[in-house]
Amino acid sequence: MAMGTVTIVMYHYVRDLRRSRYPRLKALDLDLFREQLAYIKRHYVIITMEELIFAVEQRRGAWRLPPNAALLTFDDGYLDHFINVFPLLDEMRVQGSFFPPARAIRERKVLDVNKIHFVLAACEDPSEIADTVWRAGAAHGLDLAVANERAPKSRHDRPEVAFIKRALQSELPREVRAPLLDKLFARYVTEDEAAFAAELYMNVDHLRCLMRHGMFIGCHSDDHVRLGQLDAEEQARQIDGALEFLVEIGVDLDGWVMCYPYGDVNETLLEILRARRCRIGLTTRVGLAGAENDPLLLPRLDTNDLPKRADAPPNQWATHAGLNGYASQGGR
Ligand SMILES: [Zn+2]
Repeated sequence: MAMGTVTIVMYHYVRDLRRSRYPRLKALDLDLFREQLAYIKRHYVIITMEELIFAVEQRRGAWRLPPNAALLTFDDGYLDHFINVFPLLDEMRVQGSFFPPARAIRERKVLDVNKIHFVLAACEDPSEIADTVWRAGAAHGLDLAVANERAPKSRHDRPEVAFIKRALQSELPREVRAPLLDKLFARYVTEDEAAFAAELYMNVDHLRCLMRHGMFIGCHSDDHVRLGQLDAEEQARQIDGALEFLVEIGVDLDGWVMCYPYGDVNETLLEILRARRCRIGLTTRVGLAGAENDPLLLPRLDTNDLPKRADAPPNQWATHAGLNGYASQGGR
């Protein structure tokens, strides 16, 4: 069973937090990333996206992959990935797969989701922001309390922060939340969005450089929106816009991979992807990927699901991959 599964690990920000301008940002600290990489190297075989595509397409029954295969994925095209992640992967001679949001990079715009992260990181007390959001809702006759009660508990955020994220990402109507978020971003972070975007995301040259060094670049949509909420025409536009961007970077579309923003996908989107010969789709559903999954709906683990110490004993996910016997001789 360990043979046919792959542990796909998902990363977002990876930075030296203490020496960064936003030490409160919810990021993976670079030292911990280093430790986790060592842990993964010890207990897994890091494979390339091309190898996974091959295994998926050749399959009869289980996928033929190295035992304890792992694939490293990096969402959102952060400059963090070029500056902090790439040199480490390059040194280890392993591949990472990177999923940049096309328009944010082309037009130097900061995604709403990133604005929210940095507003939260810049403000000492999130209750101050929660208040502002609450009042903005009330001013438009919206009772955010009801939605707040109904919302599922977040895996990673405290309730107050989860509330702010939900309200600013989806619960407030667009015409309320966009200007509110811009106001908060200008107040707490910066008024120069383009300069901030240039420091936050990779540019086309960074992405091309990653490719020259054997890294994989995939599709993360054009606007980084919840694709499952759009109609088919909009979905197709989101995909085609991003694919055009990938071609501009030099990605070969024979063997392209989709990574769904927020893991949001539905049947019409899957049809669009199939029509464009997408090989693999990455969700945010938590689990190990294997032949029992639709290749366009592969689960992943978050970095927080794995230990962040090189010498940590294998955790429950490694056990699922059948590492028990192997790990016990691993010099704990
Ligand atoms: Zn994303």
